[in-house]
Amino acid sequence: MAARSIVLVEDEDSIASFVAMYLEKEGFTVQVAADGETGLDLVRSQRPQLVILDVMLPDIDGFEVCRRLRRESDVPVIMLTARDAPTDKVVGLEIGADDYVTKPFDPRELVARVRSVLRRYARDDRDRERPLQVGGVALDPGSREVEAAGDPVRLTAKEFDLLHYLMLNAGLALSRNQLLEEVWGFQFAGDTRTVDVHVNQLRKKLGGAVTIETVRGVGYKLRR
Ligand code: CA
Repeated sequence: MAARSIVLVEDEDSIASFVAMYLEKEGFTVQVAADGETGLDLVRSQRPQLVILDVMLPDIDGFEVCRRLRRESDVPVIMLTARDAPTDKVVGLEIGADDYVTKPFDPRELVARVRSVLRRYARDDRDRERPLQVGGVALDPGSREVEAAGDPVRLTAKEFDLLHYLMLNAGLALSRNQLLEEVWGFQFAGDTRTVDVHVNQLRKKLGGAVTIETVRGVGYKLRR
């Protein structure tokens, strides 16, 4: 992920360059897309730290862009809504936007929202550093050590990341595609069979210390 990088999806040149200028002055790198499809491509290729998304776009609207983004990524999204329409805000937050700013806005307000959303995400990142215990398995993200029933287990980097993600989401059914994206990354052009292979390795290495269930037609679930 590129640090302090922002993708701005906005079709109005004057607003886009004004906002970009302001954010750049604050030390962010900004790339601008003038329509939704280009915006999605930019996010895929640049993996920015945050996305600012206008609702009113010439092709697919900002809500649809946000919906599609959410299928692929948990990048923070701030929506720019044209009016102070409460429904826009509700829809925006329901589809997974993190915050919204109503036009016309003071760029300082937008910068403040950007900082606050990034701070919130940084806190979540720290949560991901917490040691975890599920069943007989203990995992420490700091030292990247895993123990099963008190014995150290040697995992490959991807096996470790997969186990970490399963433990963070223990009790939830996770699809193969979600696991592929979360563990192997957004741009990994892999096959979901990669997930199956790694799950089988984990099952072998962890023995009976924890159960990774197969959820038929979906993927996998780590039993709490
Ligand atoms: Ca617009």
